[in-house]
Amino acid sequence: MRGKLETIVGAMFAGKTSELLKRILWAKHQDKKIIVMKPNIDNRYSNQKIITHNDLSHDCYPMINWKTALEEFEFKKNKVDVVFLDEIQFMDTKDTITNVENILNQGIDVVCAGLDQDSRGKPWETSSMLLGLSDKILKIYGFCNVCGIEATKTFRKTEGGERTKVGASNIYEPRCLKHWEPR
Ligand SMILES: [Zn+2]
Repeated sequence: MRGKLETIVGAMFAGKTSELLKRILWAKHQDKKIIVMKPNIDNRYSNQKIITHNDLSHDCYPMINWKTALEEFEFKKNKVDVVFLDEIQFMDTKDTITNVENILNQGIDVVCAGLDQDSRGKPWETSSMLLGLSDKILKIYGFCNVCGIEATKTFRKTEGGERTKVGASNIYEPRCLKHWEPR
């Protein structure tokens, strides 16, 4: 049987990594064999861990690309039950779709988490493709830093800079549509 793909998306500070962590802990509780990976680009707090904004964490493999990940792990059903991917928006689109499909075809489940949009409101390609491939989707919301209602957007507090800039609360914050503008 083909594995199941679940994708968790939302704006920054919505709690995506917390949702992923919840599923990691549940899988471990069920004695499942797991692999947790995130792109090496994101070294905000630590490279070897996925860390939530409220400081919960789990060990992970800092992935340079899929080629090195395939050298590191054997994605076979007898070796692994669930693969967890964090910060999917920074993974190569084509390679990620190909490899996630291969993993699913092995009968291994995949759970991904990441941003669906950048601070300009543009869809992240890899996240979009994974959403299109998903069996289950969870979109979660933060709270607007200005008015406190549900936030669907990530607002960039400073102007300019490249798209893939990673950063915490000093650069980005969650905003509702009324208080957000693309930057
Ligand atoms: Zn607002």
